[in-house]
Amino acid sequence: MKDDVITRVLEAFKRLPGVGDRTARRFLFHLLERDRAVLSELAEALRELEKHAISCSICHIIDTVSPCSICSSHDREPIICVVSSSREAYAIEGTGTYKGKYHVLGGLISPVEGISPEDLFISDLKDRVINENIEEVIIALPSNTEGEITAHYVANTLQDTGVKITLLARGLSYGSDLEYTDPMTLERALNYRVPYERK
Ligand SMILES: [Zn+2]
Repeated sequence: MKDDVITRVLEAFKRLPGVGDRTARRFLFHLLERDRAVLSELAEALRELEKHAISCSICHIIDTVSPCSICSSHDREPIICVVSSSREAYAIEGTGTYKGKYHVLGGLISPVEGISPEDLFISDLKDRVINENIEEVIIALPSNTEGEITAHYVANTLQDTGVKITLLARGLSYGSDLEYTDPMTLERALNYRVPYERK
């Protein structure tokens, strides 16, 4: 039974975050015994995802087209919400209230992990602020050390553009992950955002 397809699928599930032996078995046998329709839907969708998922050349969000559907839309307000990964952009988009654009940095500055500003999409954010006549940049980064270092760097980089810089309101607790914040709290944090103050 070692290299058979069942074992391979179980092992693949277990490589996903938060999935252990038990959950992997639950997923597998649910698909096999109870929901074959989801099994084929999932197989087809994953194949397609693998083929078409691409990061947007402008904002770096993951989508199936580049420029992404948000960057190509003409209805978006001249606001950019800066996030560390696409996951957070999708979480904010999920609230349905935000009508601006996004900019995915691709991580956070981390001296410990050796991630420097040059490793992230920060300089092209400044170009966008100028070229797209952006009126406000909302910094929506995690409230932990790396998030704060990165916020500080982003704010300094944008300083001479004169753009208004704001932060999500701190209804979010320290170290909280945007992605796991419930939509209502996230919406409130967006609506009551505060001016970014340089320390
Ligand atoms: Zn885009």
